[in-house]
Amino acid sequence: MAKKIYERLKTISFSRPSGTAEERKALDYLAQEIQAIGYEPEFEEFTYQRKVPVEATLAAVLEDGSEVNFQVTGVVDALETAPEGETAEFAYLPSYDEVSLANLKGKFVLLHGRLSKEEYRRLRKAGIKGYAITSGTVRDTYENSDLETVRFRDNLSDAGPLPAFTIRMIDAVELLRSKLAKVHYTLRLQEESVQSRNLIVTVPGTSDQGEILVAGAHYDSVPFSLGSWDNGAGAVQMISLLEALKAHPVKRTVKVLLFGSEETGLRGSRAYVEAHPEVIEKTRAMVNVDVGGSILGKELLFIGAVSDTEVWVRQFLKEVGYAAVTVPKLMSSDSANFNDYGVPSISIGQGAPQGGGYMHTRYDNMELIDEDVLEREAGFLTDLVERLANAKVFPIPKVIPEGLRKEAIDYFGKKSHLATQPPVPEEKPLPFHF
Ligand SMILES: [Zn+2]
Repeated sequence: MAKKIYERLKTISFSRPSGTAEERKALDYLAQEIQAIGYEPEFEEFTYQRKVPVEATLAAVLEDGSEVNFQVTGVVDALETAPEGETAEFAYLPSYDEVSLANLKGKFVLLHGRLSKEEYRRLRKAGIKGYAITSGTVRDTYENSDLETVRFRDNLSDAGPLPAFTIRMIDAVELLRSKLAKVHYTLRLQEESVQSRNLIVTVPGTSDQGEILVAGAHYDSVPFSLGSWDNGAGAVQMISLLEALKAHPVKRTVKVLLFGSEETGLRGSRAYVEAHPEVIEKTRAMVNVDVGGSILGKELLFIGAVSDTEVWVRQFLKEVGYAAVTVPKLMSSDSANFNDYGVPSISIGQGAPQGGGYMHTRYDNMELIDEDVLEREAGFLTDLVERLANAKVFPIPKVIPEGLRKEAIDYFGKKSHLATQPPVPEEKPLPFHF
């Protein structure tokens, strides 16, 4: 008999992007499974605004004035062009060294990878007019690949966005080979209001000490992807956790959360932390799961807490015999919103070897998902939550250390809540004396 956790993941392995009927359908199914265990889940609706591309074109303008069109998609929340489009000189920018950054004024640039705040700052300073970022690999074909939808993250700059596009890597190669002089591009966006939902299950502690532990995972996916690995796996692990908590009640109250719209800017968890100051006040820590279940790859634990926590977690891994690598870093996932509201976190994920996992593509499906891996991960999640929820004294101090604080403020930019709060100092053990 196939394991239940695998069946659950299979059931929600369909594309479930933010704000769609499929996102709702996935959560309705997860809610049914939770009800069948004997819990009454609550739903919380939230909305957010975004500007989605309705028209995006990019053409290489050759020496003789002729144009060659390339398939592109616009970046969400980028800047529109004039309706007739814009023409600019072109530059290829595989690195951000001084030579590459010189003479970029008024140019349109081709970039690789995810833009950092500092990279974007330098591009703006250099005076670029717009940019395209590559998507996929040179091995793709039009039939087997999709253009990744990316978003202009509002922490990138106070100066705001520029016209921005995503182009397939195979087209980027052709674009460069065309020996183009200029590019001609158009971007039209439409403002829309997106509705999504979080699900909340409160498992009351057996001895209420006014302390809460939050465990959460996002259940949405990016477009095109079936989101089995990222992050159907985390969502179904939360259901296994609820089954375990039903069988073995714990001392502290555990709130299990399933977040919507993580992929479009951690929207569900942001809505939750903003709406529940009374819960945040009592929450000692947040355990997040984002990415898991693949037969290939290593288990990762991102520690968003004081450095002693990493030591504690590594001892705990030895105790329970679970192989995982600890990484003291802000995880770009729902746990980051809890960090930004002063709540430390442990964020569980899985990293694949090169070519062994394709996040945010159509290849994130059930093909590499293994039921034993899923079960092992769910077992570790349960061990960790039970240990924390039953500890006599909570082992993780409610402190966001300096380094993590900087990461969070940088990550959220103008939206950072932590930036408005004074730092909470870490209390070290007192010196010994008789
Ligand atoms: Zn994810």
